[in-house]
Amino acid sequence: MSLPATLIEARNLEVGYPIPGNGIFAKSRTLPIVRDTSLSLEPGRTLGIVGESGCGKSTLGRALLRLIKPTSGQVLWQGQDMAAMPIETLRRRRSEMQIIFQDPVAALDPRMTLGRIVSRPLATFEPGLSRAQLQERAIESLRLVGLSADFAGRYPHELSGGQAQRVGIARAIIGKPKLIVCDEPVSALDVSIQAQVVNLLMDLQDQLGLALVFISHNLSVVRHISHDVMVMCLGRVVETAPRDAFYARPLHPYSQALMLAVPEPDPKREKGRIGQSLPGELPSVLNPPAGCVFASRCPLVQPRCHAERPESVSYTHLRAHET
Ligand code: ADP
Repeated sequence: MSLPATLIEARNLEVGYPIPGNGIFAKSRTLPIVRDTSLSLEPGRTLGIVGESGCGKSTLGRALLRLIKPTSGQVLWQGQDMAAMPIETLRRRRSEMQIIFQDPVAALDPRMTLGRIVSRPLATFEPGLSRAQLQERAIESLRLVGLSADFAGRYPHELSGGQAQRVGIARAIIGKPKLIVCDEPVSALDVSIQAQVVNLLMDLQDQLGLALVFISHNLSVVRHISHDVMVMCLGRVVETAPRDAFYARPLHPYSQALMLAVPEPDPKREKGRIGQSLPGELPSVLNPPAGCVFASRCPLVQPRCHAERPESVSYTHLRAHET
């Protein structure tokens, strides 16, 4: 049976967090964070997700892996609805989808050797493996991320930030996943180390055929690694485009504003934080605007933007209009 071309697909995903109601008898409510979000990703490709801090990128990433249960909508893994998967199938699928985090040191248990940390997912997914086999696989995985075998006997406090992130990646790839959600994986690292880690992820993608969801507020890094780019604003996707088209001509005014806020190429002047120079405040998620999520801050705003929500802009739509 041939596999579907799409590895993971989200359809009209809504994700929120419970918040207590006012008063002891009041029902808790759901704070909507990600709204009406759809995306798809093919094997071996990278989707960059950008947007200001707090716009819901991490929440979406976790919901794709079903680490958070969506409020509504679907996530399909190789065409199968993850919500409808029997628990055993979901558990097996989990080895195929992994996540790496922003703070590499905090993500590693300080009491364990790196060999144990890296092999831990295997102990869960392949419980029949002996200790020696686990260690062997851990060393193989450490080598793949550029760390020598002796790292297996070291502890997290002995690592630099870049090495710690490599260990996080070694742990993520040990079970031969098909997808890694990279949640701001280089934001905590020095600029020179950022490039090394991003290049490592790209090499591993080539070697292992990995698909990556690469979440970042840094448009320069996303440009380097992504095949396609998706822009989120206040929990909604406002634009999706192939990388080169997006960087040559961002279509949504929010994307254009993000692009204008891209830091200087000079690393000394690079702040790396988009959003700093965007005008105005983000509207509250408790009281989202009825129209465009960017209307209150958009330099091109028109009266209808406050009333009507525009469709998410996609390059495919543009080409359809141009031809
Ligand atoms: P981003 O990754 O774009 O910075 P997040 O997905 O981390 O955005 O957060 C989006 C919003 O959800 C933020 O307002 C954040 O405060 C809120 N949030 C994140 N995690 C939780 C949680 N566990 N409970 C309640 N609210 C949360």
